[in-house]
Amino acid sequence: MDLTFSDSETAFRDELRGWFAANPPGEEPTEEDANYAWRRDFQRRLAADGLAAVHWPQEYGGRGATLTESAIFWEELGRSGAPLPANVLGVLLAGPTIMTWGTPEQKERHLAPILSADEIWCQGFSEPDAGSDLAALKTRAVREGDEWVVTGQKVWTSGAQHSKWCMLVARTDTDAAKHKGLTYFLMDMEQDGVEVVPLRQITGEPEFNELFIDGARIPDAHVLGGEGNGWKVALTTLMNERAGLGFMLQVRLRQQLDELMAEAAGRGLLDDPVVADKLGDLQLRTETLRLTAYRGLTAIQKYGTPGPEGSLLKWMWSDTNQQLAQLAADLLGPAALEAGTPAAYELLRTRGNSIEGGTTEVLKNIIAERVLGLPKAR
Ligand SMILES: Cc1cc2nc3c(=O)[nH]c(=O)nc-3n(C[C@H](O)[C@H](O)[C@H](O)COP(=O)(O)OP(=O)(O)OC[C@H]3O[C@@H](n4cnc5c(N)ncnc54)[C@H](O)[C@@H]3O)c2cc1C
Repeated sequence: MDLTFSDSETAFRDELRGWFAANPPGEEPTEEDANYAWRRDFQRRLAADGLAAVHWPQEYGGRGATLTESAIFWEELGRSGAPLPANVLGVLLAGPTIMTWGTPEQKERHLAPILSADEIWCQGFSEPDAGSDLAALKTRAVREGDEWVVTGQKVWTSGAQHSKWCMLVARTDTDAAKHKGLTYFLMDMEQDGVEVVPLRQITGEPEFNELFIDGARIPDAHVLGGEGNGWKVALTTLMNERAGLGFMLQVRLRQQLDELMAEAAGRGLLDDPVVADKLGDLQLRTETLRLTAYRGLTAIQKYGTPGPEGSLLKWMWSDTNQQLAQLAADLLGPAALEAGTPAAYELLRTRGNSIEGGTTEVLKNIIAERVLGLPKAR
């Protein structure tokens, strides 16, 4: 693992630092719609300068950035305090999946509006009885002429309330083995058969939704990767899920830990052995996370595919983020429980960290089986 940037990587980092310094995101709006508009606007500013998706090839409006450059982009975005692009699922998941599996027409139709945030995407994978075991999904698509008619329910669909398109995985063959009877669709959300019902979470935000699909119609031309090939196409989406984002998360963690240390110092608590011990532990974990993120990058560069470090990183990050939010609340005392404060928000929001993007239990299974070589759980 070489942690030294090459000259061109350093130049890229400096260019980004200059851009973010010249484009401050401004104060984050608290009202939900205003907040969303702020994130959309910021993505448009990035897109105007070719920075909305640096990891995309140049022919599709990206910069053709290497993995290291892409990691640098997310690090600098995190450092600058800029928001995640409004179309983060489009940029990180839908775009790369369409580039891998799409027909020339699908690429031509969908990629540009993803970058410009003119068309927002959501991910319709999870269902009430199919989360960790995604292949158990029951949403059904039946062919009718040159269309598919879809019926079923999705849940936890982040950003569906803003989305024009959905990456939808549905069952098209009930006789085939459960991984084999699936097809991946690009579903237009703006139609009568699709109802989006917001789910208000513990923080008070409706970040995700239930999706009730009742006779929605999808043209055959919107199948991605071929009928019955949905599992493979979905794996492409899932493999892209954390690419790069891990770097932003570890930078944000670093910033939050620095703020917490300053808070503890301001309260004269650095000499308190219990607080010092906890801060020391968080410091060690945060630095380990940073190095593990780079180790994951090195593995991809060497072997071409992400290693199991991704699972380790996600588990360590969610655990550390939850501990950090808890320590911040402990230091603030009852003030941390005041509704609407950042500390109260973090305390509640971090609960979901060990569920979203793969639960901790499932990640532990992967590490046990694929890293430690222990017997399979099932
Ligand atoms: C903030 C947030 C945003 C999300 N956004 C989206 C989205 O946009 N689109 C989307 O499709 N999904 C989304 N999800 C859903 C997420 O991917 C699922 O919640 C996750 O895959 C877990 O599935 P589940 O909730 O059905 O839990 P289940 O799979 O039912 O798991 C329940 C419990 O059983 C445990 N468990 C399950 N299987 C095993 C096993 N084999 N071994 C040991 N323990 C096991 C789990 O760890 C968990 O504790 C989001 C979730 C969150 C929290």
